[in-house]
Amino acid sequence: MKANRRTDTKPELALRHALHRLGYRYRKDYRLDLDSGRRVRPDIVFTARKVAVFVDGCFWHACPEHGSKPRANEWYWGPKLIKNVERDRVNDAALILAGWAVVRLWEHVPLDEAVTTVVTALIATGLVGPPGPAGPADTPGATRPKRQPGPDQPPVDDSHS
Ligand SMILES: [Zn+2]
Repeated sequence: MKANRRTDTKPELALRHALHRLGYRYRKDYRLDLDSGRRVRPDIVFTARKVAVFVDGCFWHACPEHGSKPRANEWYWGPKLIKNVERDRVNDAALILAGWAVVRLWEHVPLDEAVTTVVTALIATGLVGPPGPAGPADTPGATRPKRQPGPDQPPVDDSHS
């Protein structure tokens, strides 16, 4: 099943590249080992600002608009999807407890809206403006993206996983 790819879904890629073009630097698919012992792997992580972004697949995370329960093999999918959603909530709580801001976006959210949501969350951390000498690593500025891929070009593959 196509939706089974855990990372590098198209909406996630598009969001990453848009953020990158805006000058934001992040880690993708970066595992956070929280003090609580919980390990969470958000899709996009701003380590200095402590902002964790998830782009949730509508099916896998049971989006209210598109996540209608699969009719086939419901005995299998039902509990599995419920488990996914429960794990999402537990992860959110663990992150928030550890001082992280959590941004969850459905994959169906339009790109510009997704970008706005993430940028708003980043600004809300209070770490704004160009980085000083000791500025946070994920602040826009200093290093500008070298490439400006056009909208019709394939996304740059920055994945190694
Ligand atoms: Zn959806």
